[in-house]
Amino acid sequence: MTDLNPPTQQRSENMRRVRSKNTKPELRVRSALHKAGFRFRLHRRDLPGSPDIVLTRYRVAVWVNGCFWHAHDCRRGRSRPSANAQFWKDKIESTKARDLRGLQNATAAGWTTWVVWECCLEAGIQELVANLRSEQPNLGAVDS
Ligand SMILES: [Zn+2]
Repeated sequence: MTDLNPPTQQRSENMRRVRSKNTKPELRVRSALHKAGFRFRLHRRDLPGSPDIVLTRYRVAVWVNGCFWHAHDCRRGRSRPSANAQFWKDKIESTKARDLRGLQNATAAGWTTWVVWECCLEAGIQELVANLRSEQPNLGAVDS
């Protein structure tokens, strides 16, 4: 659970970690994709919205999002700390707006966008894998 104390120096350390890559859910998605035979690139910051995982062959961009930080419509995503309410509201709203822009820009650039949420990680992974398989059922084991 993330530390939700008022803003301090420690806070900015936490904030940096929030945007850090290679989170546990993300590693889980990568491992599942790999096992399913899909090959991918990571953290393409040159692409709109800097997706966490990119399947170039399928032109699919994947984000693995924590529910709290990315304001998922679920129990955890809707919860807000009562202390520093405005700070958190602003912070999370701006993350949400940035996410939306990223998705829209990626879509406009011809990418299929896919968000896997932390609270339904396994279901999200299954859905993603099924979707990729249906895109090109004869491919998957090899990717450039
Ligand atoms: Zn959620």
